Amino acid sequence: MKPLNSTYAQLGTTVFEVMSGLAREHRAINLGQGFPDGRGPEDVLRVAAETLLDGWNQYPPMMGLPELRQAVAAHEKRFYSLDVDWQAEVMVTSGATEALAASLFAVIEPGDEIVVIQPFYDAYVPLIRRAGGVPRFVTLTAPDWTLTREALAAAFSPRTKAIVLNNPLNPAARVFSRAELELVAEFVEGADAVAICDEVYEHLVFDGRRHIPLLTLPGMRGRCLKIGSAGKTFSLTGWKVGYITGAPELLSLVAKAHQFLTFTTPPNLQSAVAYGLGKDDGYFAALATGMQAKRDRLGAGLRAAGFEVLDSQGTYFLNVDIASTGFDGDDLAFCRRMTEAAGVTAIPVSAFYERDPVRTVVRFCFCKEDSVLDEAMDRLARQLAKVA
Ligand code: PMP
Ligand code: GLN
Repeated sequence: MKPLNSTYAQLGTTVFEVMSGLAREHRAINLGQGFPDGRGPEDVLRVAAETLLDGWNQYPPMMGLPELRQAVAAHEKRFYSLDVDWQAEVMVTSGATEALAASLFAVIEPGDEIVVIQPFYDAYVPLIRRAGGVPRFVTLTAPDWTLTREALAAAFSPRTKAIVLNNPLNPAARVFSRAELELVAEFVEGADAVAICDEVYEHLVFDGRRHIPLLTLPGMRGRCLKIGSAGKTFSLTGWKVGYITGAPELLSLVAKAHQFLTFTTPPNLQSAVAYGLGKDDGYFAALATGMQAKRDRLGAGLRAAGFEVLDSQGTYFLNVDIASTGFDGDDLAFCRRMTEAAGVTAIPVSAFYERDPVRTVVRFCFCKEDSVLDEAMDRLARQLAKVA
């Protein structure tokens, strides 16, 4: 048999699957892979159940159910004062992951350079390579993870076709400032490029911060594909319902890629997400404040256990720097040891880099029941000595 596709032949299994497997093997508390352990909003679940039983269960329209596309447009207006034409500028996808795949496949011609910020969500680079693109990395480092003009200037070139911008940024838990976004906009415009904006954590920003979509900056309306995920906004990560907002010239091409990837997304889930996006402002505010309280709970416990805790401005995640623990090994070794010795699993942040990784930062997920966080912190406090 001839060799199969080299991009995939060279890839390992995603770190989330590996660490969740290790957690199962050692019966450890899994603060690795980012998923909430609650049930999700009861009313949204009920709409999904009722429309499954009483509604249409055949192919919905390729662009998505009108009610969900209208709800996405209304959401963009409510939160970001954006006027969006739901028919020409909104498409539903099977999760943000499919939205990313469709966007990258629609934008990239073989040989195009795509700017990617490290640390990155691990789906980006294989998708870029599979489409024939060449990733160019902008490297951020702990503890500030700041985007600078110098780093962007080194990555952008006349061959830049697009940037993938994840804001709020998993795993660094950064929410980029307006000044950083203005820099990105300047480079995108300067290169006559596109921005694929992964904003799945748009409603998970803390301490009174406001999420600013790149698409709302001057000059960016026609250059951005803004991607959202019901998984994060309704704490239902298994649903895999995503949505893209973008100018018709961009979105129409993304729709062509989407029609031959998944084509559609289960209709009852679309109806439930349409209902959910219409929930009152209180729901969205409580999602952020509830998650912020969990961040603080875990942060206090990790600090008390002796960890150096980094700032978490958004997302589901909180990072610690293990350099000061005296552990003789890198972040991956630390995560393995912590799973085996303390019974708590986290994710090594070096997995989110392709080159020159940060090797002393470990990511914990805090979107868990308080009792689970408390038990994890007890275990860590009791056994940090054994881990380190
Ligand atoms: N982008 C980022 C940054 C993520 O953390 C996730 C979560 N898995 C995704 C995309 C994928 O979202 P979805 O589950 O909707 O495909
Ligand atoms: N986004 C999740 C995380 O960062 C994991 C998604 C996955 O398992 N593919 O933990």
